[in-house]
Formats: sequence, structure tokens, C-alpha cells
Amino acid sequence: MSGLEDLYREIILDHYKNPRNQGTLETPPAVVEQGYNPLCGDEVKVFLVVEDEIVKDIKIDGQGCSISRSSASLMSNAVKGKSVKDAQTTIRTFKKMLALKDEDDIDGETIEPINEHTVGELIALQGVVKFPVRIKCATLPWNTLTQALQSAMAK
Ligand code: ZN
Repeated sequence: MSGLEDLYREIILDHYKNPRNQGTLETPPAVVEQGYNPLCGDEVKVFLVVEDEIVKDIKIDGQGCSISRSSASLMSNAVKGKSVKDAQTTIRTFKKMLALKDEDDIDGETIEPINEHTVGELIALQGVVKFPVRIKCATLPWNTLTQALQSAMAK
């Protein structure tokens, strides 16, 4: 067991035990989308307020395993305050980190090399790649966020 893996496990546990941006937001002005992962039973609701194409506020509600919960918490930190475009780039980068996106499947957009400097604490979730059954747990909140961003921008 490397020290780095221990650190990543600690980050995941910290976000599971002390989830960031937990709760709900009033709809409207917020939009809400929910996702479900039948393989594990994870449920997530993403509440989102977008103003002037900025993610002004995000709250996460739901229940599930440590991976889905910590992924949602890390995601909320990663996109809060970002522009919608940057949030969408973060989603793509995250999926690429989990090897779900090919290099040539990113709409010609440059994605930065993936390391702790470019993705911050999200790097802690990279180890999920080794457990394919867990990838759906990790990506559930992100797919739900994608829907919420679309709903918010369609308003
Ligand atoms: Zn799960």
C-alpha cells in the first residue's frame, strides 16, 4: 500500500463522512435532477442555480455508498462558482480520468493532463478505475449534474 493511495482513501472517507454542499435548494430558482444507480442502489439529487452562465449554487441530496457520496461531494466543490463551460470541461476531464472518454471524443477541446494540480482532490477517485463495478457509483453524480446543467441552461 503506497502512501499516496492512503492519502486518496483519506480524501474519499473525509468527503463521505463530512459531505460538502449537502442539502436542497428551493425550486425554482434552482433546478433539480435525480439519478439512480440500480447496480448499487445509489440515489442522488443535484440542485443547481445557474445565473449569468455561472454555477452560483449547488446542493447534493440522496443516499448511497461511500464512492457515490464522496464523488458527489468532491464534484460539488469542483464546479461551484465555475462557469457552465468550465463545469462541463471538468465533467469531461473527470470522465476521461476514469477512462470513459477517448482522446478524440472530446469535441476538439483540449483537456489538461490529469494530475493533482489540474484536477485537485478529484484525483483521489482515479483509483476507482481498478474496480469497474464502482465506476457507475462514481459517475452517477456527474451524469446527474450534466442533466441539471442542461435543464438550467434551457430555462
Ligand atoms: Zn455505489
